[in-house]
Amino acid sequence: MRLIPLQSGSSGNCILVEGRGVRVLFDAGISAKRVTERLAEHGIAASSIDALFISHEHSDHIAAAGVLARRFGMPLHLTAATHAASRQVLGDCPFTAFVAGGSVRIKGLTIETVATPHDAVDGVIFIVADGERRLGVMTDFGHVLAWLPGLVETLDAVYLESNYDERMLRDGPYPETLKRRISGPGGHISNDESAQLIGSCGRHLQWACLAHLSATNNQPDLALAAHRRCYGEDLPLSVASRERASAPLMLR
Ligand SMILES: [Zn+2]
Ligand SMILES: [Zn+2]
Repeated sequence: MRLIPLQSGSSGNCILVEGRGVRVLFDAGISAKRVTERLAEHGIAASSIDALFISHEHSDHIAAAGVLARRFGMPLHLTAATHAASRQVLGDCPFTAFVAGGSVRIKGLTIETVATPHDAVDGVIFIVADGERRLGVMTDFGHVLAWLPGLVETLDAVYLESNYDERMLRDGPYPETLKRRISGPGGHISNDESAQLIGSCGRHLQWACLAHLSATNNQPDLALAAHRRCYGEDLPLSVASRERASAPLMLR
């Protein structure tokens, strides 16, 4: 399998995972034009995407989903509640509903979904399994739930949220209510929480890609340093760009 972050963060999220000849996009929070261009950089036509999965209805995850489904016939997968919450943004387009916590088979890949307490109506994170390897696509999950370490232990690689530096958030310009939302149980996880998650149970990982970094409350070097401090230098680490597609990550 390989994963290509097409963009990551509150300005828009879109991730390609490819394996067993199957191409799946996760989230579509950047414009259809950008999705098309960034796929083309890797020789991939938007019309060749086998499925587009949406994690939740926040606009940084869903803005272009309706356009992509209509223009390129991308099969759209989301929960019924997420669809209901995003109908206005999506417009009229066919979709397949999955149940949060269920699995969906897309040819040779299985997409497992796990419900999250993020402040969306029916948010999920994803695990992509090809029969040999398991890859986590995990952002916007609110807080580190009790079962999350056990899940990370089963993964071979992870695309993982590392949203904010605790000091930057505390001392930064956001109003107190927004600071509480971000650090609260339905918000995002900090660099230290993300690092501890990998440090406590990520020993099987081939690599980790840090994702959904805040523009206001984080910096890539701070996120990387928090992770290195927690579990050392051995694990290959990268940071998904907020502005462009990042280098492909191969899972062997
Ligand atoms: Zn988000
Ligand atoms: Zn969100």
